[in-house]
Amino acid sequence: MSRSQADESQRFLFEEADIRGESVRLGAAYREILALHQYAPGVSRLLGEFLAASVLLANNLKFEGRLILQARSAGQVPLLMAECDHTLGVRGIARGAQEATADDNIQLLADGQLAITIDPEQGQRYQGIVPLEGASLAASIDAYFEQSEQLGTRLWLAADGDRAGGLLLQQLPAQVEKTAGSRAQQWQHACTLAATVAEDELLALDTRDLLGRLYHEDPLRLFEPSPVRFACTCSRERTLGALATLNPAEIEDILGEMGAVTMDCEFCQARYVFGREDLAELPGIDQSKTLH
Ligand SMILES: [Zn+2]
Repeated sequence: MSRSQADESQRFLFEEADIRGESVRLGAAYREILALHQYAPGVSRLLGEFLAASVLLANNLKFEGRLILQARSAGQVPLLMAECDHTLGVRGIARGAQEATADDNIQLLADGQLAITIDPEQGQRYQGIVPLEGASLAASIDAYFEQSEQLGTRLWLAADGDRAGGLLLQQLPAQVEKTAGSRAQQWQHACTLAATVAEDELLALDTRDLLGRLYHEDPLRLFEPSPVRFACTCSRERTLGALATLNPAEIEDILGEMGAVTMDCEFCQARYVFGREDLAELPGIDQSKTLH
């Protein structure tokens, strides 16, 4: 048995059923994200599940762009977000979670809603929203697919503050098996076995060993694993774009008081500093003014 060290995602196919699958394991990328913040253990685990799920869902994107999972709640974590792009760069944050101490998801994400956004670089953004069922991310994503897709999709997720892992199964259009009855039976079979997965197996085993345990009697085809890494999409240009949406009077106040506008990226903590001359393109910023 080999224990997985890598941050990677791997696809597989059932040879004798119309079902595809994917697994993900995060280690260093997850720890790098956690190291930038001070989250309580419960929040760290939740963020790990969100990161793992974002990779599983983004790995099937058919275009350049990103997938964003965003939970808003009345619980201890007002906003939790994870993003993964088509190159499998991930980032995530639990905003406003400094005081969150709860250990269970229900308290952390009480009365929550989950938004799943597909954001292509070219073309239209698409967003679907579901309630956070019992504050379980996997169950909520399952519900999202139940209401939006004809083909079954199920996820299993785990995270322990050090590693995160997940497994996804998805029905494919009929090819191998044409009759509805046997398609349903195969899907049931694959899901029932996946549901026996232990958290530690999701976190520690590489895909080959994990699938060997779950499906030792089913022929599977495994594809090459793809590396996943922590990558922030922030830039000086994007930050300037965000400043352009603010009230110019507010920016003037900050310039008057501080001499420059400082913006920290909440995901990676990169710092962007703009003096008055840097803001020349923004509407309503007076270039003739001298600093106090
Ligand atoms: Zn950043």
